[in-house]
Amino acid sequence: MRVLVVEDEAMLADAIAEWLREETHAVDVAYDGAAALERAAVNDYDVVVLDRDLPAVHGDEVCRELVEAGSAARVLMLTAAGEVTDRVAGLRLGADDYLTKPFAFAELAARVLALGRRSRPAVPPVLRRAGITLDPARREVFRDDRYVPLAKKEFAVLAELLRAEGAPVSAEHLLEKVWDEHADPFTGAVRLTVLRLRRKLADPPVVETVTGVGYRIP
Ligand code: CA
Repeated sequence: MRVLVVEDEAMLADAIAEWLREETHAVDVAYDGAAALERAAVNDYDVVVLDRDLPAVHGDEVCRELVEAGSAARVLMLTAAGEVTDRVAGLRLGADDYLTKPFAFAELAARVLALGRRSRPAVPPVLRRAGITLDPARREVFRDDRYVPLAKKEFAVLAELLRAEGAPVSAEHLLEKVWDEHADPFTGAVRLTVLRLRRKLADPPVVETVTGVGYRIP
């Protein structure tokens, strides 16, 4: 198994890494959140041991970005406080398990092993329609053979339209699925995002407006 240890206390990080190497895992160490994200972007880790209390890029942020990037790595979060709210926050952000400091190395190793054995989530299917290919796992969009760089919201709106398989999708539905509950339905956010999406997908137009109903990709 390939494991990434993220911990800013160098002595602890190295001790965890040593212990896991004894268990025959391939182990990399990152001493801060930014370095962790860089490594995770390059390497396919089975498990990330992630200290929650990191300087600069907080452990929660690292966890969130890993999940958003579609990383298949399981996250074991290390929390110092051991407070219920901390654990819940970590799990909500996509951590798969947590361990409260101080911990026994043997327990950490056992949990890493258990996480690594867990079946991976099913890879979301690639969506194709009207010459557009959207790969949710890789977060890539192509129109025919042209790569289309999209912002997060544009990507999410396009995914919703493709999933509808030709049926119109209302602005309300898009607001609910792509924005959060704080989104103001009167800001025109959906309209603006569709406008930008159309511009990036270029001609001939693929996203139709269905008057009074919403948008669709026929
Ligand atoms: Ca720390």
